[in-house]
Amino acid sequence: LDVLNYFETKCRGSKEITDRAKQRIPGGVQHNLAFNYPFPLAIDRAEGAYLTDRDGNTYIDFLQAGGPTILGSNYAPVNEQVAAVIRESGPVTGLFHEYELKLAEIINQYMPHVEMYRSLGSGTEAVMAAVRAARAVTGHKMVIKVGGAYHGWSDTMVYGLRVPGSFRMNAKGIPFGATARTREAFPHSVGELRRKLIENRLRGGTAAVIVEPLGPESGTRPVPRDFNAKVRALCDEFGAMLVFDEVVTGFRVGLGGAAGYFGVTPDLTVFGKAVSGGYPMAGGVGGRAEIMNAFGSGLDGKSGAHIQVGGTLSANPLSCAAGYFAIQEMARTNAPVIAGRAGDRLTRGLRRLIDKYGLPYVAYNQGSIVHLECSGVMLLDMRSPLKLLKENKARKRLMEQMGAAYTAHGIITLAGSRMYTSMADTDAVIDAALDRFDQVFA
Ligand code: PLP
Repeated sequence: LDVLNYFETKCRGSKEITDRAKQRIPGGVQHNLAFNYPFPLAIDRAEGAYLTDRDGNTYIDFLQAGGPTILGSNYAPVNEQVAAVIRESGPVTGLFHEYELKLAEIINQYMPHVEMYRSLGSGTEAVMAAVRAARAVTGHKMVIKVGGAYHGWSDTMVYGLRVPGSFRMNAKGIPFGATARTREAFPHSVGELRRKLIENRLRGGTAAVIVEPLGPESGTRPVPRDFNAKVRALCDEFGAMLVFDEVVTGFRVGLGGAAGYFGVTPDLTVFGKAVSGGYPMAGGVGGRAEIMNAFGSGLDGKSGAHIQVGGTLSANPLSCAAGYFAIQEMARTNAPVIAGRAGDRLTRGLRRLIDKYGLPYVAYNQGSIVHLECSGVMLLDMRSPLKLLKENKARKRLMEQMGAAYTAHGIITLAGSRMYTSMADTDAVIDAALDRFDQVFA
């Protein structure tokens, strides 16, 4: 199958509307996960494991919106319960609603270390709030992230702080000083992290070490099994808060999140994505009561440091009810385990195909998070940034082309290299996907 020919002949409706969108929407698309090569697809319908585009082409959906829909897309039992709530209260009142409490309670039920929870608007906002809380409570100034991790798009957490090997910022519009109190450690290096913590003693101390607990980029660079426990010990030694960014892993690697999986208890946990079951305003921060009370009004006498956060639409009934019902439904159906088995089956099948064709590819997974690396580099070595930058450019181009080839064969991935499975991925869906991968690899 000629990939470009597929797009030209079968996706005319998508091309027409996304071309028109360029007049009114910068770049024509608003979602950075939507790959744009050779042009973006316009999706009309989503259900379970499938997406249908404007031209009526159906795809197996391994993007799953970038992770939130562990139950599968457009999951009717949650939709119906959410609809019943908003029929009563509408989507927002700006006042307390019982589903705020129900969401906080159900998170606490599966993650006991999240004693209290504050709903916010997105994972990005939740990271900002966690960092602010860590500074307020510890009195320390610096924050350490582990190289290559994505913690949203705020100024201080910007993805890839510097252009590797230079002093230029990686993203325009962010003043250099914005990241003066953020340090980035090499992935997987406990020694490097310790060095950064020691250096930070002269800079006002480390308020927080924030990690994606599976490893940077949703486990694209997977951590050794004992890494998080070692980071926990270092945080205790240096009086820093350990923040787990569970935006992707929360509920996906199990209802207890990565904390449950690794048996490591963070001080603060950042949520997003699945915490509103794929509905809007997915974000929040939770943790020990003594820290979380600082988000209170300060009028209850419990809050030493009063931390200001806000959001007109934060903690609205729709998002909170959707999160509550989605978590309840994930528990009832065992969705994280089912999605994880689908991820295992997909990965095993991909490995067989890689062997069959003798390709220099690698497939690996952490349950329902599946990585398929076709560039021959594992992106593990953060110590040769210039080399990596060059490789990255070539890799990005290759991933674009692979992503387009998968799409033309009826599979949507995240940027041609990552896949999220869901409860909707039956053995039949995975096997059909593997047949399509077989054609691409051939
Ligand atoms: N943290 C991680 C690990 C993420 O993967 C993401 C988003 O993909 C974020 C934070 C940011 O969350 P949001 O997109 O809701 O702002």
